[in-house]
Amino acid sequence: MAVQTVATTSDSADTVDLGPASGLSCRECGERFALGPIFACEACFGPLEVAYDLPSGDPEELRKRIESGPDNIWRYAPLLPVPADVAGKPNLNPGFTQLVPAANLARELGVTGGLWVKDDSGNPTHSFKDRVVAQAIEAARAFGFTTLSCSSTGNLAGAVGAAAARAGFRSCVFIPHDLEQGKVVMAAVYGGELVGIEGNYDDVNRFCSELIGDPAGEGWGFVNVNLRPYYAEGSKTLAYEICEQLGWRLPDQIVIPIASGSQLTKIDKGLQELIKLGLVEDRPYRIFGAQAEGCSPVSAAFKAGHDVVRPQKPDTIAKSLAIGNPADGPYVLDICRRTGGAVEDVTDAEIVDAIKLLARTEGIFTETAGGTTLGVAKKLIEAGVIDPALTTVVVNTGDGLKTLDAVAPTTGMSAVIRPNLDSFREAGLA
Ligand SMILES: *Cc1c(COP(=O)(O)O)cnc(C)c1O
Repeated sequence: MAVQTVATTSDSADTVDLGPASGLSCRECGERFALGPIFACEACFGPLEVAYDLPSGDPEELRKRIESGPDNIWRYAPLLPVPADVAGKPNLNPGFTQLVPAANLARELGVTGGLWVKDDSGNPTHSFKDRVVAQAIEAARAFGFTTLSCSSTGNLAGAVGAAAARAGFRSCVFIPHDLEQGKVVMAAVYGGELVGIEGNYDDVNRFCSELIGDPAGEGWGFVNVNLRPYYAEGSKTLAYEICEQLGWRLPDQIVIPIASGSQLTKIDKGLQELIKLGLVEDRPYRIFGAQAEGCSPVSAAFKAGHDVVRPQKPDTIAKSLAIGNPADGPYVLDICRRTGGAVEDVTDAEIVDAIKLLARTEGIFTETAGGTTLGVAKKLIEAGVIDPALTTVVVNTGDGLKTLDAVAPTTGMSAVIRPNLDSFREAGLA
């Protein structure tokens, strides 16, 4: 991957106001850098992440400040790399989605300790990606970019297109050419440029890394490449919301899907911050990662006891999770092992079953990524790995309307009848 050193269009890092963000630090060697559109360490090529001066002082005051904030992710602005006046800027205001108490599902799965679905299909473009794009947009503004871009497995392209439209950026996003129609239409409708690449996500991502180093991509903010450190922080809001919605309490177990693995690692970072800030009681929690069998590089490494993740060529209906070479794979392994969790995978058939299970029990229609997450949760509960007597949160990251093809072959009308009562009685539904 080409390493971009500071090539910001704004005058100097000193003028950059991203709230409590104090700089970037290397996740491998800890080297510090000024805030800028960079993503790899100059010393060791490790990935960079945002470092903070987090609020100190009375946790009760901070809790009250958060609770009196807007009903979206900006209630947590003091913990995010965004300017203090962010809530007044044009953006999609995602977040504060429902934490659904899933009593019917719990009964079906034999969970007695409490089961919740964090339902991020309720975001403006119907996936969790609105959270991360909202952070990237603020970084793009701060660094003076005028075009927003990304490599996407589908949902991110739509989230960037919509957010760019609202905030007045030009957008040009890249996807594998063979995605589901729902994802393609969602990405195109907002009026930006949408480019299909003949290849899989890993090819799209490699292409975008090349584009960043080329004059053709100059002045472009790639939300998940050169703005990745900022983008990634958006996933922390899932951790904040889950704990706040549980009454400022950590869940015992949380099941999260893995594509690049960024979301899972940042949910863990968010939980750690809440503990450090004294907003929740410090208790052990376990993090579980979910993959589709047809793209399970992290799960395979977990089961084999490896620290490195061997890339795979994806072949699964869970296209939003189809990243064969996940950037955060090794960090996911660390977190799942450190917290006493696990990484597991399920087949495409199990994914479809889980989509229908969630719809049937809780009235939530999830996409294939959510089917993967619930499928893995079910498998781990049945295997006794997830403890049914403890509180469990399953993260639903997307909306089933975008992946209709996955369930269309096995769902449909109960009967087609003539518009009269005799015909209805004949159908045996009375
Ligand atoms: C992108 C995506 C994920 C996973 O994201 P990573 O942070 O790359 O692991 C999960 N679910 C859905 C629906 C997504 O679009």
